Amino acid sequence: MSTESDLFLLDELLTEPERAVRDRVREFCDKDVLPIINDYWERAEFPFTLVPGLAGLKVAGGALEGDGCPGLSPLAEGLVAAELARADGGLRVFFVGHSLAMMSIGLLGSAEQRARWLPSLAAMDEIGAFGMTEPGHGSDASSLQTRARRDGDGYVLDGAKRWIGNGTFADLVVVWARDEDDKIGGFVVETPAEGFDAEPLRGKTACRVAAHAQITLTGVRVPAANRLEAATSWRALTPLMLRARQDVCWEALGHAEACYELALEHALAREQFGRPLAGFQLVQAKLARMLSDITAMRLMCWRLSRLEEQGAATLPMASAAKMQTAGAARQVVLDAREILGGEGLLAERHVARHHADIEALYTYEGTQDIQKLILGREITGLSAFAR
Ligand SMILES: Cc1cc2nc3c(=O)[nH]c(=O)nc-3n(C[C@H](O)[C@H](O)[C@H](O)COP(=O)(O)OP(=O)(O)OC[C@H]3O[C@@H](n4cnc5c(N)ncnc54)[C@H](O)[C@@H]3O)c2cc1C
Repeated sequence: MSTESDLFLLDELLTEPERAVRDRVREFCDKDVLPIINDYWERAEFPFTLVPGLAGLKVAGGALEGDGCPGLSPLAEGLVAAELARADGGLRVFFVGHSLAMMSIGLLGSAEQRARWLPSLAAMDEIGAFGMTEPGHGSDASSLQTRARRDGDGYVLDGAKRWIGNGTFADLVVVWARDEDDKIGGFVVETPAEGFDAEPLRGKTACRVAAHAQITLTGVRVPAANRLEAATSWRALTPLMLRARQDVCWEALGHAEACYELALEHALAREQFGRPLAGFQLVQAKLARMLSDITAMRLMCWRLSRLEEQGAATLPMASAAKMQTAGAARQVVLDAREILGGEGLLAERHVARHHADIEALYTYEGTQDIQKLILGREITGLSAFAR
């Protein structure tokens, strides 16, 4: 009998620093997150109490180097994503919002901008958010309407953002807007700011412990020095999108691993018709499918991260990986829910949280449809979604 989901022994290929990062995040999740997370989930409340522990892991900033950032390998950054998602999808998206703000500054900011904001974000003394999506523009984010008008030595921002993780309490929000030349720009809004209003999104069925906001910007002034220097075109954002998409693939793996392990434990312990559920062929077929899907997901994540380390990963590769891992993880989570029967719907058995959260993952960082269209464009040379 094997309860390990690492069928192809990929853990053997981890470097010692990568293993150490994975182990310390897992230990934190097992000891500090899992015992308390269901209560926060039921109340749909963010567990601020976990932030100092998360900060102590020294993983904020991931593969960014310098200015207090940990300089992890892309694969280690992925392992952090997987471990947090294994514990809770809401906690993971809290970390995503913070990380996307850091990556925006780290990959697209000037040396002064990095030195100004990254040390406190890496220490998690300040929390970041990433404001791209708008009420009218989700998948077609490149059509966003938020405006940045030059005014003296700064800019004035007007517009609205939706689904912004950490938006209700972040110390800084990277707001994406168009300038008067219709060029995209990333503007660091430090809160509180006059004209900046963040209303919590209520009634969420997924990622419940994370705080998402609808943000309204009414004449919000930011100094010119807060415009990210290298974020001058959509193409310039490619390294950011690549990193974010890589991480979401590992996140999908984390959800699937957690659910596989919980389902296997349940199937071995629960008896019906005089024997463990695990002894029935139909249940074994599910477990076999789950394990082989997880193995395929892990291989894809692994290779994508190593290619990224070599500077050879591309957006279509990341789209294929997101499409594949999100789809497979969704099925693994669904099978786990089924194997647990009614128990699979109770928060205390954990699978229910993953079941809800995997729906969010299926949608964010580019929906399943959008990943298909990006890959389709790569295959055919024809864009099916350009305006
Ligand atoms: C939990 C969560 C956290 C998030 N966090 C953030 C955040 O921190 N910051 C941020 O900026 N955004 C965030 N988002 C927003 C996220 O990026 C968007 O939800 C996502 O881009 C999809 O946009 P949408 O929800 O507006 O769906 P839409 O774009 O309206 O899509 C609806 C449906 O239509 C399909 N569709 C759209 N266009 C096409 C097409 N051309 N062809 C075929 N089908 C199409 C989509 O695949 C989808 O199934 C978050 C979302 C969630 C759920």
